[in-house]
Amino acid sequence: MIKLSNINKHYSTGSHQLHVLKDINLEIGSGELVSIMGSSGSGKSTLLNILGILDEYDSGEYSLDNTLIKNLSEQKAAKYRNEFIGFIFQSFHLLGYKNAMENVALPLYYKGVSRKKRNKLALEYLDKVGLKEWAEHMPSQLSGGQQQRVSIARALITHPKLILADEPTGALDSVTSQSVMNLFREVNKLGITVIIVTHEKDISDLTDRQILLKDGAILEKEDVDV
Ligand code: ADP
Ligand code: MG
Repeated sequence: MIKLSNINKHYSTGSHQLHVLKDINLEIGSGELVSIMGSSGSGKSTLLNILGILDEYDSGEYSLDNTLIKNLSEQKAAKYRNEFIGFIFQSFHLLGYKNAMENVALPLYYKGVSRKKRNKLALEYLDKVGLKEWAEHMPSQLSGGQQQRVSIARALITHPKLILADEPTGALDSVTSQSVMNLFREVNKLGITVIIVTHEKDISDLTDRQILLKDGAILEKEDVDV
């Protein structure tokens, strides 16, 4: 599903050039549950943003589902993102003035689905993440773990083939982190490819495959613990 060949990425700040991703070669198959682990500043978010077509790379090639992702117009990039990818963030990115159901329904609003239909579907997805009873609650009335479940339901409602999660448990205590990771495992069992970025080995250990990023380079991959 994902193939990266010799991906390089630099950031320029003033006269200084930072080589953030160094000759990344990586293949991730459809249906995998993978973590990308590395310390802060190792380039994890940069890599995930390239995978999510939110950022561009300088050299190399990235193919997603056999489509070369290179120099896409913003319109095309948005089309692939909307059709393919669900994003999960450390800070949940929920709208504070909308309740849980409305937050989950939001992607369908952008697709022109009627309010009645999108709210009905949103309730079904809230049910899938164990939060049907919380549909009317505002994000501020939900715990961190519940908010992350809402954001996972919101990602799932558009039937993505790929879920990209950037430090999804970074704001959660360890017990809640475990249950959110269990939810990712369930999502993965539906056949959705899941890629989780984390700096915590405990979290990375809960995925089927661990990819290690150090100073912008892949050190080891595939079952580093075995
Ligand atoms: P991680 O997610 O692993 O913490 P990032 O991918 O966010 O790492 O960042 C990798 C490196 O690139 C860091 O040194 C960071 O400071 C730098 N960096 C990230 N984004 C930018 C940017 N927009 N401009 C300049 N430098 C950046
Ligand atoms: Mg990051």
